[in-house]
Amino acid sequence: MIVPVSEHLKLVVSEDFTFCNCLLIEDKQRGIIETGMDKNLLSSIEPHSIDTVLYTHHHFDHVRHNEFFPQAYISIHGLDYPALTDFNLFFHYNSFDQWKELMPGYDYEEAAYQVGLTREEVIRSWHINGTFENRDIVDFGNTCAEIIHTPGHSAGHCAFWFPREEFLFSGDICLTRVGPWYGEIYASPEDMINSINYLIELKPSKIATSHIPEICKDGVERLKRYRDRIYKRDERVYSYLKQKPADLHELAGQHLIYKIHPTPFVLFWEKLILLKHLERLQNQGLVEKFNNKLYRAKQGGWL
Ligand SMILES: [Zn+2]
Ligand SMILES: [Zn+2]
Repeated sequence: MIVPVSEHLKLVVSEDFTFCNCLLIEDKQRGIIETGMDKNLLSSIEPHSIDTVLYTHHHFDHVRHNEFFPQAYISIHGLDYPALTDFNLFFHYNSFDQWKELMPGYDYEEAAYQVGLTREEVIRSWHINGTFENRDIVDFGNTCAEIIHTPGHSAGHCAFWFPREEFLFSGDICLTRVGPWYGEIYASPEDMINSINYLIELKPSKIATSHIPEICKDGVERLKRYRDRIYKRDERVYSYLKQKPADLHELAGQHLIYKIHPTPFVLFWEKLILLKHLERLQNQGLVEKFNNKLYRAKQGGWL
């Protein structure tokens, strides 16, 4: 489905969660933000005549299919670029090198195969020509996109601001009911909070994201609710540990982040995100680790 945003902007909406929405810029120059759309949408946007591809971040659901854009100049923020240069770095940036430790009894290869994350598929998506930085402007003719560095989801995650249209494409600050996600080594809930606060200050009148099928007119309110879920997760983890000490695996079984774990990856992310909250709560002096693996709430904490 292709949804018009303004005269020159169109949202290409994918239906499957392992793909993403892309923003098409039809101007003197043709551009697209993200290439990870459903394969059946690819031909309808004529990828061979796209001049510029921009990525919000390095995740596979966003960069897949970039082999269909052979003429385009393709770029990403410098902090995410290394993840798309070497398979070991890709593994590290996605925290897959922690799989063995965090997911005993689950075979990584089998789980990766289920979601199409095989080595061959991933390496096909590594055609990057350059990098950009915060505040760079990309001019398509009548349309200008301003790059806003919004770390949190990944270190180099960026949103794209179209000032004339007062329109924001916020990537994986995705406004879905399962977000925010900060389950990789260089992700950070603190950065996520700061990035969302920055986007709220822009007062966008319309927001689209990589994973919801609509253009939001109440985006500022939704951004606030989305940000506040991070604090609610802190509270849930702390409340559980107030009842009893627990290790990471027991905490992950309480579904404090995700209501269901339909694939091993969701359980893996639950654990990675829990680790970020445990680190936050330890930094705030509310939780401590003992016996090298158990966590407990400290006396006299909050709540
Ligand atoms: Zn992502
Ligand atoms: Zn995504």
